[in-house]
Amino acid sequence: MDLKGKNCLVTGGSRGIGRVIAEHFASLGANVAITYSSSADAARAVVEAISEHDVKGKEYQADAVDFTKAEEVIASVVEEWGSLDVLVNNAGITRDNLILRMNEQQWDDVINTNLKSVFNYSKAATKPMMRAKGGSIINVGSVVGISGNAGQSNYSASKAGIIGFTKSFAKELASRNIRANVVAPGYILTEMTGQLDEKVLESIEKETPLGRAGDPEEVSNMVVFLASDLSSYITGEVIRVDGGMAM
Ligand code: NDP
Repeated sequence: MDLKGKNCLVTGGSRGIGRVIAEHFASLGANVAITYSSSADAARAVVEAISEHDVKGKEYQADAVDFTKAEEVIASVVEEWGSLDVLVNNAGITRDNLILRMNEQQWDDVINTNLKSVFNYSKAATKPMMRAKGGSIINVGSVVGISGNAGQSNYSASKAGIIGFTKSFAKELASRNIRANVVAPGYILTEMTGQLDEKVLESIEKETPLGRAGDPEEVSNMVVFLASDLSSYITGEVIRVDGGMAM
């Protein structure tokens, strides 16, 4: 796998799956910019790790919900590095609650952070990728966007929305050689899942045919493939990385 010379942007690259994707890209020769919401120190540490691979790294404080900021971040990457070849829409949050108890804020926060952000960055990436005559967008969904999950109606709706958006985007931009795909992880060990109750985690592991949680590296392996030219004939696809959970 080789990403030499590619300029990549990973939203939510300061922690968890996004951090691992960013560092994996750099280890394969790509320049990598990341965005984050509030973890400035963590984001700086990721950029330092990126730089150790003799490639360029840069961090942007940018709330993924902010449409104008998305345009500014992508314009800055293109101005500094000349192009944007790969975009990973990874930033995401959970605000779990049963529908009976879910308030409007919990609904809006999750839909805006997880779904509107994908529109914001994909739209901003479209023109530079058209100018470059190609590009790859990888959207981080979730298996619950396919199967639904009690207590996660907001999150599942946001991730199902990402699938619909990605397929529409892929159809609109295929003639321009811009590909868009969804990677749908199952239960992956990060701070996001670290908040879950131990009993809930045990039952998730029981429901996973491979019998364990996944590592962020197992997600980034698929993201790297979709970013690379090895996946040049794949677009509009949803690929689960879930130990068989949603099978
Ligand atoms: P983490 O909570 O570990 O990391 C989330 C990342 O997103 C952080 O870098 C965070 O930045 C950033 N982020 C959150 N909100 C915003 C925002 N408004 N603007 C910009 N950046 C933001 O999550 P994971 O690594 O576990 O999850 C990454 C993605 O993978 C998400 O889309 C999630 O839904 C998805 N996913 C995760 C699964 C899992 O089991 N972990 C399973 C399925 C899907 P900051 O550090 O500044 O807060």
